[in-house]
Amino acid sequence: MSKGLPKRSEDYSLWYNELVKRADLAENSAVRGCMVIKPYGYSIWEKMQAQLDKMFKETGHTNAYFPLFIPKSYLSKEASHVEGFAKECAVVTHYRLKNAEDGSGVIVDPEAKLEEELIVRPTSETVIWSTYKNWIQSYRDLPLLVNQWANVVRWEMRTRLFLRTAEFLWQEGHTAHASAKEAMDETIQMMNVYAQFAEEYMAVPVVKGRKTENERFAGADETLCIEAMMQDGKALQAGTSHFLGQNFAKAFDVKFATKEGGLDYVWGTSWGVSTRLMGALIMAHSDDNGLVLPPKLAPIQVVIVPIYRGEAELEAISVKAKEIMAELRKVGVSVRFDDRDTQKPGWKFAEYELKGVPVRIALGPRDLENGTIEIARRDTLTKESFALAEMPIAEKITSLLDQIQHSIYQKAFDFRAQHTTEVNSWEEFKEVLESKGGFISAHWDGTSETEEKIKELTKATIRCIPLDRKDESGVCVYTGKPSAGRVYFAKAY
Ligand code: AMP
Repeated sequence: MSKGLPKRSEDYSLWYNELVKRADLAENSAVRGCMVIKPYGYSIWEKMQAQLDKMFKETGHTNAYFPLFIPKSYLSKEASHVEGFAKECAVVTHYRLKNAEDGSGVIVDPEAKLEEELIVRPTSETVIWSTYKNWIQSYRDLPLLVNQWANVVRWEMRTRLFLRTAEFLWQEGHTAHASAKEAMDETIQMMNVYAQFAEEYMAVPVVKGRKTENERFAGADETLCIEAMMQDGKALQAGTSHFLGQNFAKAFDVKFATKEGGLDYVWGTSWGVSTRLMGALIMAHSDDNGLVLPPKLAPIQVVIVPIYRGEAELEAISVKAKEIMAELRKVGVSVRFDDRDTQKPGWKFAEYELKGVPVRIALGPRDLENGTIEIARRDTLTKESFALAEMPIAEKITSLLDQIQHSIYQKAFDFRAQHTTEVNSWEEFKEVLESKGGFISAHWDGTSETEEKIKELTKATIRCIPLDRKDESGVCVYTGKPSAGRVYFAKAY
């Protein structure tokens, strides 16, 4: 029940955590940082997966699966890659337990020590490129466009349900190409696929950009990303697409015979989105009553709640409800008729609000008499009485779902616009960050030192160098040195 859900405006973080739990999305487990994704949460993730998977296939990719364990030596083959991931690796050292001789329980059998320790994959570039070495000989084997759906482990110290967990679910695309241009085109294409998914399906507007060297993926020459804004004004990196250059090909000696008869290293990309997107979805739209889900990702799009006294009324209402359900299902709307007699309508209303079901239809005896239904929108919490004779119900509901999808996006878009500020001085930078937050568009001198310094002083990081930034030279907001253009700063999750 939504009763007692903490207020978003009072404690955003508590509101988020409670919402995730009470809406039955996920909960913490016995292992710190590892979450249980509950059936309702998982059904939203499945909808995301299905759509993304379709988009990956439409852009020519196929799925495969690579092992969970990576020999330690693989990870160290690419120097900056291992440096980036070493700090958060789970390592398997033994393969057997035994009973302790003093009877105190089970212990690791010291004799069952692995000859080479194994890393639980934090990402799969190394294991995949070691495999690609056998798959790629000539330009005819390229491009290789593979995606994998998997879990990965990064031993994060500060975790939060969905947004940052030690184990998370994701997809990772790993592609191999004959030229730098092809690989870069792929990197851009997949960033665009992510942006399209975020905007059209999640109804979350995103900024497309490049990461600075500091924030780049360990082992990449370039990292493109999509950045979203949450309702507390903080940024969330929602997806990344990396141009790997020839780094992994060199590390794993993956060469191909070129069309021209030469021999060259293969060019690579990798790209991923994770269950963090669930966090983005929740944080971007929900309110004090609970989740607000965009219709395109809502597991249940419409719920019908009967309002009745006694069996006879319920029966009459059920006939009408089933008619409506059949009409809606014909056009692909997912609908549930909640005729449980164990809960009162008021309880059900609150429950479906908490769960973010976009449309609620209430149907009572008076509606039957008048040929009407009551339609309530989750996003605006508004209600209308609709005369069934006015237009086919399927048409009414599909157009309403479209409207909701659009209006949720617009609301998030307007919020972002209101919370994006251009600043031109250091004073202004600090003032806006403290009073208003959000994205700050400011000039930066292009150095990692300045970026670090600003982070140290304000906790704001450079989220990205936006791809569509204006050609506008200026001076760095912190050092006053020349700047080639504005970047987005924000505090981030
Ligand atoms: P990366 O491989 O670091 O580029 O990350 C790929 C995707 O996974 C990005 O969209 C990240 O936002 C997401 N991600 C990274 N670390 C975590 C984490 N600890 N929990 C959830 N998602 C993550």
